[in-house]
Amino acid sequence: MINLKQYGSQYVNWVLRLGKGRAALWGLFVLAILAILIQSLLSLIITGEIHTIDIFRSIGFGLISAPFVIYFFNLIVEKLERSRQRLAQSLEDLSILREQDARLNAELEQQAEFLRAFFNVSPDLVFYRDDKGHFLSCNRAMEILTGKSEKELINSTPYEIYPEDTAKLMMETDRDTLAMNTTFTYEQWIRHPNNKLSCFEIRKVPYYDPLSDRHCIMGFGRDITERKRYQEVIEKNSRDKSTLMATISHELRTPLNGIIGLSRILLEGELSHQQREYLKTINISAVSLGHIFSDIIDLEKIDSRRIELFRSEVEFSQLISDISHFANLMAEQKKIKFHIQYEENLPNFIYVDNARLSQILWNLVSNAVKFTPEGGDIYLNIVRRDNDHFDFILRDTGIGIPANEQRKIFAMFYQAENSQTKKAQGSGIGLAISKRIAKLMGGDLTVESEVNQGSTFTLSIQANEVKAKKAMKINTHSLKVLLVEDIEVNVVVARAMLEKFGCEVDVAMTGKEAFEYFEKAQNSYDLILLDIQLPDTTGFEIANKLRERYEEGSVDYLPLLVALTANIIQTKEEYQQQGMDDVLRKPLSLEALSDCLNDYFDEGFSEAHSQHSDLQNFCQIKPVVVEQEVIKAKTSSIDSVILSELVDVMGKQAVLANLELFARLMPDYLNSLTNALKLWKQTNSAESRKQTADEAHKIKGALASVGLIKLQEIAQLAQMDDSEEWDLNIEKWTVEIQNQWQKDLALAVDWVEKSA
Ligand code: ADP
Repeated sequence: MINLKQYGSQYVNWVLRLGKGRAALWGLFVLAILAILIQSLLSLIITGEIHTIDIFRSIGFGLISAPFVIYFFNLIVEKLERSRQRLAQSLEDLSILREQDARLNAELEQQAEFLRAFFNVSPDLVFYRDDKGHFLSCNRAMEILTGKSEKELINSTPYEIYPEDTAKLMMETDRDTLAMNTTFTYEQWIRHPNNKLSCFEIRKVPYYDPLSDRHCIMGFGRDITERKRYQEVIEKNSRDKSTLMATISHELRTPLNGIIGLSRILLEGELSHQQREYLKTINISAVSLGHIFSDIIDLEKIDSRRIELFRSEVEFSQLISDISHFANLMAEQKKIKFHIQYEENLPNFIYVDNARLSQILWNLVSNAVKFTPEGGDIYLNIVRRDNDHFDFILRDTGIGIPANEQRKIFAMFYQAENSQTKKAQGSGIGLAISKRIAKLMGGDLTVESEVNQGSTFTLSIQANEVKAKKAMKINTHSLKVLLVEDIEVNVVVARAMLEKFGCEVDVAMTGKEAFEYFEKAQNSYDLILLDIQLPDTTGFEIANKLRERYEEGSVDYLPLLVALTANIIQTKEEYQQQGMDDVLRKPLSLEALSDCLNDYFDEGFSEAHSQHSDLQNFCQIKPVVVEQEVIKAKTSSIDSVILSELVDVMGKQAVLANLELFARLMPDYLNSLTNALKLWKQTNSAESRKQTADEAHKIKGALASVGLIKLQEIAQLAQMDDSEEWDLNIEKWTVEIQNQWQKDLALAVDWVEKSA
């Protein structure tokens, strides 16, 4: 076999050496000789003699067949040769590839080495764990933190390395990272083997390892202990500064109010011209000083985003008179004319933070005076936009603000270029603070202006009208009402009010129950009052499902759907867009409910109208008797208007029982809030954040229903989780509610017990 191969390759070489032509001639010659020899041999063996004709015949046969045979052989030779050449080429390529491979391997090794060194010199923790929490790899910083070598760490879980609660949080966050399949960052305190505690900002990244076909966690941790401690110091300093500011403010305001009040009284009396001018200056300087001081205090609060509102009843006419007074005095000094205009439909009383409102108006008026040349005009127009929204539009005829600066003037410390000459007169903080307060008041502050033509600032605010001061009639509406509300104290209040109007009330505390009642009553409800946040759904979802059923034709009648909300910011239209017919605000007021029932179910109303003289049909609500002492309590923590209305509607004992119910339920509500907050602090997840805000919203509704106004405002801030302010303060607000609610509740109980 080997010989054959050798002969084959010798033949190939021989053909290649001779060339195809010559090899063919040789082949022909050899074949002819072979043919003669074989033919002669065969003739000799078979017949015993050699015939010349046979020799010629075999030569002829050889000559005919030789070209084919030779062609065939040459073809094979050629193919073989080509394969041999390809093989040789492949071998050469292979050896080049091998060389390259070896070089790449060396480079890879070098890079791996470099990466390893890179990770190891990093002061940040780097680790890699599988989905069961086993360490797969880590860097030197990790070894230092744990006091174990990488070898010892590999295959162990956090439970074998850290204390139980540290390990638990690590495993939980690993799980969350893998479940959510997104990068996850949180802060964690970890104890070193030498007992030192460090705070790490840990970032976990999910990673699918295709080699081992499993999900893993890549982790990075940065030591932020210094930053944390520094932050704590800053926060403490800030708290100390605030306390100092608050003290100074209080100390300063008392004498300042004395100066303002007394100078104003004096201004109304008999004075010589010069005395009047001096007194005006004293008055306006004191007012200005007070507002400048408020701006400065707010400047500090705006940093920590802690501006709070303290609403109280304010008489609109008094408000207008105050604005006119200081605006006139200011304008007069520059011979500017101040004009004020307001509509007839302004309410007698509104519920607003008077000090804040005048702080904004003072800022606007003093700017208008500052930037309007002598002899100019300033116009203030007060408009009631809807039931509880008011606009204060201040127009001046001054230097105006270029279009490209109009947004910037609301930034802190910004002063427009064309007003630079007035720089000495301003601080650049008034508008920034005013806008922020306007937003807190559920409104905004905007500007329209043209250079050299003047500016128009529009301050819009939300403020409820205070109506309890007038006698109100109660019309009987024998309606069937489904109240969907999960906070018991709110249920008690709403049910009592509805029953006062003669309504028959069913109460559902979840979405599921609501639908069960709806089915059971066979669509006989006239009105459904829907709380927005329910344990299993939202009021909007219920409203929309009912609407769908009605549109599909599976029910032939749709009751009136009214939202019950503690949210003051959304407008009625926004509620209507989400499936409601109307909205009632919490705390539910008898008057608002009465207006709503009268508006939609007016047979009872017309009937009552026709018997106008019959006082039996009217329930006279006593005007609220508010003592001086009580006003103080109310402005600080409880709302006497609500409490007095509740006493009128439900009776003293029922209100006290409701306050008791609130006291029983509040610890549970607070528990849920603190648990949600704890989870948020540990995980920083969006879900726990929303849960915390939802719990705060629930608490806000309950606080509103029992008239704890100050805490209600804090809970209002705690439910709005869409700002940085929330992140900074949610813990503080929670603690404040926790520490304060029992004291405020005691005040409310006291108020109710003493009420007539
Ligand atoms: P300042 O104390 O400087 O008045 P503000 O925050 O109140 O600070 O105002 C910021 C800037 O906005 C002012 O410096 C001025 O450039 C511009 N501005 C405010 N009100 C007016 C106005 N009525 N007319 C023209 N420019 C104004």
